[in-house]
Amino acid sequence: MNKSNTQYDLLITNATICTMNEDMQVIGRGFVAVTDDRIAMIGSGEPSSSMNASDVIDADGQVLFPGFINTHTHIFQSFLKGLGADHQLIEWLNRSALPYGAVMTPHQHRLAAQLTCMEAIRSGCTTLCEFFYTDQDPELADGCIAGMMDTGIRSVFIRTFQDRGEDYGMPACMVQPAEEAMREVERLRTEYRDHGDMLSIWTGPDVTWSTSAEGYRTMLDYCKAHDVRYAMHIDETEVDDAMCQATYDSDIVPMLEGMGFLGDHMLGVHCVNLTDDEIDAFARHGVSVSYNPVSNMYLGSGVAPIRECLDKGITVSIGTDGAASNNTTDFLEAMKFAALIQKGFSRDAARITARETVAMATVGGAKAIGMQQSLGSIEVGKKADMVLFEPRHLKSMPMHDPYATVVYSSSPENISTTIVNGKVVYRDGVFACGIDERQLSRDIDEELRKLRVALSLDEVQAC
Ligand SMILES: [Zn+2]
Repeated sequence: MNKSNTQYDLLITNATICTMNEDMQVIGRGFVAVTDDRIAMIGSGEPSSSMNASDVIDADGQVLFPGFINTHTHIFQSFLKGLGADHQLIEWLNRSALPYGAVMTPHQHRLAAQLTCMEAIRSGCTTLCEFFYTDQDPELADGCIAGMMDTGIRSVFIRTFQDRGEDYGMPACMVQPAEEAMREVERLRTEYRDHGDMLSIWTGPDVTWSTSAEGYRTMLDYCKAHDVRYAMHIDETEVDDAMCQATYDSDIVPMLEGMGFLGDHMLGVHCVNLTDDEIDAFARHGVSVSYNPVSNMYLGSGVAPIRECLDKGITVSIGTDGAASNNTTDFLEAMKFAALIQKGFSRDAARITARETVAMATVGGAKAIGMQQSLGSIEVGKKADMVLFEPRHLKSMPMHDPYATVVYSSSPENISTTIVNGKVVYRDGVFACGIDERQLSRDIDEELRKLRVALSLDEVQAC
């Protein structure tokens, strides 16, 4: 090698690069070089002959996007696709997520995590936020985290808590005092510290009807003391405000504002029923939003006021929600619905544009999880989390506008390569983790048989 040669770990050439940087720069034909876990160089045209790499991907005709960031799911629900279909939130919960969630084992959580994360990776996600609420056994969280780590996806594990809620159907085994929950959050933060920014540990109250006023305060004190971020289902349906009115004589958002809960460490999930005043409160306090359009339609919850949030400067990201209320973890599908339901319900085709949708999926996601310094755009120095999009499939060809094609005409077959932290985790249909999709399906079917036996023995009440 010539002394002036530069050796990189990965070099992607001949790609259309949608950088999603502040200027929304698109490089018509260019290259990106990666060293270790970071983007080392970006350029237009051909890389110089002195640039070498151990892995060179010729992305001719393909589009390079920053990796998509899914800010909300419940991994265990990947076992439950289709269960409780055609029911509203509370009834759906009591028919699917809660009974199954009460009896699943750590091994089953691990398999569910592999399934969820592989499906996410194949739909272009490089980061996944798991909102974990089956808290009856610490080993369940470890099983879920192990499954996430198996696949190589960047993970945010949100260990939430319930300290009440049996009157709304929350299994007693999932209810625990907030102090105990924070001890478990502390254990996870300590135990998984070595994973750095590949695994962040957060917490949060699951939902308002499963959280006491004391629970909110205990969690908030912990988060402030340790600089921990938190998420919460909020205003998904009218149940939140109705319950808060009955218990606290206030709607949920003003109540939380009064106790100092709203802040820039908070990710509000769903936010379907936010009023104009509540949107102003979110903007004032820097609360971010996770928008889950497919789930909101599936459960008949409604349409979140996303245009209004964006116009007030609120950071909006996109989530799929759990695969039992979606019923997939297909992020590309979530992006399409994210734009379409806003257009349809407002009768305004420009209500949310394709470019804004990609921004919510990338920079919006990065800001929502507090990682905008390292994720969300293709820029030198940032983490090498990227996806290559191959438009030459029947559904998506021909491509005139990369933003319109990825949002409106895509499916997982368009994702040719997913790169997380500088490593190729998926390429041309093959997962680098080595997990075989068909074997995983057989393993999950076997575990489902055990779960059905457990449920028929009425172990939900017994746990
Ligand atoms: Zn959820």
